[in-house]
Amino acid sequence: MKALLLTGPSGAGKSTIAQLLLQRQKELAFSLSATTRPPRPGEVHGRDYYFLTEEEFDAEIKHQGFIEWERLFSGYRYGTLWREIARLQSLGQIPLFIKDVKGALSLKQALGKELLTVIVVPPSLEALQARLLARGHLSKEDLEQRLKRAEDELKMAAHFDFILYNEDVMRAVERLERLLKQKLL
Ligand code: 5GP
Repeated sequence: MKALLLTGPSGAGKSTIAQLLLQRQKELAFSLSATTRPPRPGEVHGRDYYFLTEEEFDAEIKHQGFIEWERLFSGYRYGTLWREIARLQSLGQIPLFIKDVKGALSLKQALGKELLTVIVVPPSLEALQARLLARGHLSKEDLEQRLKRAEDELKMAAHFDFILYNEDVMRAVERLERLLKQKLL
């Protein structure tokens, strides 16, 4: 099964890169994750995530609905549903996944070699901190945890097929498009 995975620390820019890529490459479609986190203002069920209750999430685990799932430091659970991939494939589209590094490694194990894995790397930890601060809604503890986690995650870069430095978002997208044409499209 052909698919693309973007991973990297929170704040590295993987969502922005993914949004631009999805606008430009119509063969790709974003694979929605399920989460127990409540929607943020403006987020919509079925567009940003499948927002599940704790009970609904438990039921999916029980019925082997997830390829992988994880409880993040925030306490909320996130996971990839097998039937989301099936839905995208039935539409003839190539799934694009955005995962944290741990989730990415699980997905790679489950889906094998046909999954093209790309880690998005910030130019520096200082740049990452600036981007996280610019989001505004993070508490001090949350920010510190994300930065510490980012350092650990960046150590895992060698496990992925391609390292994408995001010093300039448009250049990163163009590099990723060239890679896709070589390997996936
Ligand atoms: P947020 O709550 O800010 O939308 O996402 C928090 C984290 O959840 C991000 O680092 C994101 O990569 C991760 N995440 C989103 N979907 C999944 C998923 O399906 N599985 C795993 N393991 N992590 C996910």
